[in-house]
Amino acid sequence: MAKLTFVKSQQLIKQMKKYLPGGVHYNFRYSGKDTIIPFNKGRGSRVWDVDGNEHLDLFCKFGALMVGHGNQAYNAKLIDYMDKVLSVDQCDLEPIVCERIVHYVPSAEMVRFCLSGTEAVQNAIRLGRAYAGKPKFVRFRGHYHGNADNVMGGKPQSTDYPTPMAYEGDFLGTDGRAPHIMEDQSFMLPWNDFAALEQLVNRYGDEIGVIIMEPICINGGGILPKPGYLESVRQLCDRHHITLIFDEVITGFRTALGGAQSLLGVTPDITVFGKALAGGALPVSAIVGKKEVMQLYVDQKVIHAGTFNGYPLGLAAILANIELIESDPSAYKRMSNLLFQIGSSLVEAAKAVDIPMVVQGVPNILVFHSQAEPLTQPEGYDDNTKLRDILITRLCKEYGIQFSPISRFYSNLLMEESDVQFFRDRIGDTMAEVKKLLSLFEGNSLAA
Ligand code: PMP
Repeated sequence: MAKLTFVKSQQLIKQMKKYLPGGVHYNFRYSGKDTIIPFNKGRGSRVWDVDGNEHLDLFCKFGALMVGHGNQAYNAKLIDYMDKVLSVDQCDLEPIVCERIVHYVPSAEMVRFCLSGTEAVQNAIRLGRAYAGKPKFVRFRGHYHGNADNVMGGKPQSTDYPTPMAYEGDFLGTDGRAPHIMEDQSFMLPWNDFAALEQLVNRYGDEIGVIIMEPICINGGGILPKPGYLESVRQLCDRHHITLIFDEVITGFRTALGGAQSLLGVTPDITVFGKALAGGALPVSAIVGKKEVMQLYVDQKVIHAGTFNGYPLGLAAILANIELIESDPSAYKRMSNLLFQIGSSLVEAAKAVDIPMVVQGVPNILVFHSQAEPLTQPEGYDDNTKLRDILITRLCKEYGIQFSPISRFYSNLLMEESDVQFFRDRIGDTMAEVKKLLSLFEGNSLAA
């Protein structure tokens, strides 16, 4: 397949750069040289850019897009509800939607809605600290919890008092951040290392109110918890009266209607959802938890607010998403099978040109790494792997394959066998070009 050309895109991007800093709305991993492609049509797993080029959308809006583009059943339900009522303080969908979430999610007895994952995490930490009555939280290397000063960046330091510390190129070193907020509020450790966590809690358990983690570490590279790790963390939290929070912003509703916790069999005290919760078209996040925890809101002990919290269209979108999944019993199996085939084709295409490649993660959320062995520790890859992954992601874009940043890829309810074929038709030529570029660096470190 030939490489795509982006004439109109480039004109549009020029205009965008006039108004949007860098032409984009975020600057994570954005180098200024990334290919930005504006789209104006989507059907199923395909999107079309302004030049009319067709792409396979494995990006799925950072994993949010669950229902697929142009999903008529979903769209119709949204339009119906919009016609019914637009913006009111409370609407008749609230008990219906919350009942469904409580039915499926083991940790959910009550639900509060907000808009973004970042916001839900911050509120969950506040709630968790209040429930435990202790001021600090523990988080882990490679786990992402949103765009807020107290959770973004840092790496564990191996001292007796492991507050997060900045490293070269880290977000923690960027300007304008609230000074010392992360160091004052939190500890940071390597994940999947129970001994390290137990040691920390034995020392500082009187200060630690919350332990927060992605139960499956997608942001750090698609890593599963070691057998028994989550169970041990759960018991540790119970022993030391620490609130356990699972950040299921990525895994929620994408792995199962009950979230990753329903598959892993460990129930946190609080869970946050976002992204795929409302199907992908609208921003809704949720904080769910045990009644005893959520009672703190009822008693006005903990504050939570937001103009658009529980907005009707968002609730209609959650309901439409859940109903679509419920009415399609083989949905998760089908989506994961198709995504797995795409992952296998990537590995084959890479191997055909002698580029190392592994694909890992969980059904419906896969992550690739250009290295010989699966990643076992979040962000445990070396700089050469990272650069190869970025190069592959970039070149794929130019051949019509859209991966999500940090090498992730997602399926959706409308994905079909023909999407796998679309991928196969393009990935061979893409990897051949990747190989050509890599050979220019042969003998040298890419990262040098
Ligand atoms: N938690 C996790 C696990 C996430 O992956 C993200 C976003 N990538 C967030 C929280 C933040 O969500 P948002 O971007 O909606 O603020």
